[in-house]
Amino acid sequence: MTTADTPAPHRVDLADNTVSAQEIAAVTDVLSSGWLSAGPVTRDFERRFAAALDAPDAVAVSSGTAALHLALSALGIGPGDEVIVPSLTFVASAAMVTLQGGVPVFADVLSPGEPTLAPDDVARLMTERTKAVVVMHYGGYPARTREITDLARAHGVPVVEDAAHAPVVRTPDGALGTIGDIGCFSFFASKNMTTGEGGMVVARDPDVLERVRSARAHCLTRSTWDRMRTGTSDYDVPGLGLNYRPTEMASAIGRVQLARLPDDRRIRRELARRYHEMLQGVPGLTVPFATHQADTAHHLMAVVLPPGVPRPKVQELLKAAGIQTSVHYPPTHLLSYYRDVVAGRRDPATPEQRLPVTEALAGTLLSLPLHARMTADDVAYVAGRLTEAVKR
Ligand SMILES: *Cc1c(COP(=O)(O)O)cnc(C)c1O
Repeated sequence: MTTADTPAPHRVDLADNTVSAQEIAAVTDVLSSGWLSAGPVTRDFERRFAAALDAPDAVAVSSGTAALHLALSALGIGPGDEVIVPSLTFVASAAMVTLQGGVPVFADVLSPGEPTLAPDDVARLMTERTKAVVVMHYGGYPARTREITDLARAHGVPVVEDAAHAPVVRTPDGALGTIGDIGCFSFFASKNMTTGEGGMVVARDPDVLERVRSARAHCLTRSTWDRMRTGTSDYDVPGLGLNYRPTEMASAIGRVQLARLPDDRRIRRELARRYHEMLQGVPGLTVPFATHQADTAHHLMAVVLPPGVPRPKVQELLKAAGIQTSVHYPPTHLLSYYRDVVAGRRDPATPEQRLPVTEALAGTLLSLPLHARMTADDVAYVAGRLTEAVKR
C-alpha cells in the first residue's frame, strides 16, 4: 500500500523490452501484408544489418543459438572435432558444438577485469583435432579477437565470434562479428536489440554465408517465397538443412530496433559512465573493463564482488530494495551435463582443462540493471544499495 508517508518502492529491472509505437506499426504493416514468413522485409533487414557492420551481406535466423548452429555446421564441424570455447558464456556455443558431434574444449578468461577468452590458454589447448575457436564479446566489450584469429589462422583454424552481446560495435579491427571468420548475433528479449527471438549471421567468406543461408531453409534450391512469387513448384535438396527462418514480423521489429540502437546506446553509455564513477570507491569491488575506452555495446553492467562477500546475500538485499540482478554466467564446464557427460568425450591426449580465473569468478560475478529506459537516479539508487550491501 502506498500512502503519502510511505513512498512507492523504487524498482529497477535488469532489462527492459518496452517497444515504441514504431515497432507496433511495423508489425501491423506486416500482419496486413499477406506474407508472414521470411520474405522481403527479412531480406531488407539483413541488408541494413550488414551495412551497419560494413559487411557485404548477412543472414537472419530464428535465434542466436540457430546462428551458432548454422555457423559451426557451415564450417564443417562434425563428430570428434574439438572446438575451443570459453566456459564463461551462455551454454549455447558448447551446446551447438556438442549437437554437431564435436567436443567443446573449455578455455579460461584473462582476468576479473577482462573476462574474455585468454589467447594464451587457446594456444595451450590447440591440438590437431581443433577445428574452430569461439570467442565471446562479454557484455559487448571486444574479446582479443585479432590476436586469437592470428593464432588460430596459424593452425588453419577458423574463428567464430559469438557477438550476441555486441550488435554494431566498431573497433579499429572492424565491427565485432566481422573480425574472425563468422559472426553470430542474438535478438533475444534481454539483448541490446530484440525481435522477441531472432539472430543474424555474417561471414568473411561469401561461400560460407551462402551455406548458412541455404541450411537455414532445408537447403531448398528455391525458397517458399520464390516459389510463391514465381509460380514454380519444383526444387532440389542438395544438402542437409533445418528451418531456422525468422518470421517477417520479427524482421520488421528488427529494422526499427536497429535504427534505434545508436540512441539507446548513448543512454547506456552515459548510465555506465555514472555506474563506474559511483562504484569506484567501493573497497574490493572490481568493475570489469573499467578502463575500456573504445566502443562497446554496454550490454551488461557486471561487477566482481570483493572476496568473502557472499553473493546470495547481496542479491537478497538488492532484491528486497526492488533491484533485479543476474549472473553472467555459471561456468559451462561446471553445468552437470558438461561436467558429467561431455567431459568424458575429451581425447585423453588433449591438454587438461584449467580454468582458475573462470572458477574464481563463478561465485563473485554479479550483473546490475542496465538498459536504455533507466535514469541516472536509478543508477544512483542501485549503486548506493550495492555499496551498503557490500559493506554489511
Ligand atoms: C543470448 C546468447 C546466446 C543465444 O542466443 P539466443 O537468441 O537466446 O538463442 C548465445 N550466446 C550468448 C553469449 C548469449 O548471450
